[in-house]
Amino acid sequence: MKVALFDLDDTLYAYNPCHEEGLFQLTSYLVSTWGISKEEVLTKYDSSRKLVHAQLKETAASHHRLLYMTKLCESFGKNPITYSKHLEEVYWKGYFSKMELDENVIPIFEGLIKRNVKIAIVTDLVAEIQYRKLLHLGLENYISVIVTSEEAGADKPNPAIFNLALNKLKMNSPEDAIFIGDSYSKDIVGANSIGIKAFWVSNDSDPVKSNSLTIQVRDLKTLRGIIFEHV
Ligand SMILES: [Mg+2]
Repeated sequence: MKVALFDLDDTLYAYNPCHEEGLFQLTSYLVSTWGISKEEVLTKYDSSRKLVHAQLKETAASHHRLLYMTKLCESFGKNPITYSKHLEEVYWKGYFSKMELDENVIPIFEGLIKRNVKIAIVTDLVAEIQYRKLLHLGLENYISVIVTSEEAGADKPNPAIFNLALNKLKMNSPEDAIFIGDSYSKDIVGANSIGIKAFWVSNDSDPVKSNSLTIQVRDLKTLRGIIFEHV
């Protein structure tokens, strides 16, 4: 049996349109309810995010929008208990409204399953949000295993998250697994570090990033053309 491990964000769907809409909705809401400027919201959101990242680096909680909203409320002298959960929902409602599965994902997943390849999702961030994303994208019935960095205790590229996925799949040999992801420093470095061959989905053209355990593909359409030769 072989397994295919996939990153979620910015691999199976485009992250930027979602994040931009989330920020737009958050900003519009705060401009109208708190009477502050758009620039102030964006500046303080960014510094709140950086503060949380610095405090909680390489953990799932470092990406938690609820914590960003808590710092944002604090920076405006507002009660975070009153506002932050609602602000988080405003952001995610905007985010989910723009979330669209890449058209190549279902054909890739169906082709893998037809070849008895199990599919796992290995993703940073908290389980609650990542499960919501997978349900929104309609992927739950294709996926055998999910591991979030919340469950593993550390973000990629920490080997713990990759090993937990292999353990859940009862897979002892990393050479029978492949990983697909967009981030070189997280997905590719992490997968390669425990001997998993990785497909790096990226337009980046830095030659030093090539190695025998890494195959670069420019997009999922290209991946779809070659992945079945590797399982
Ligand atoms: Mg990603």
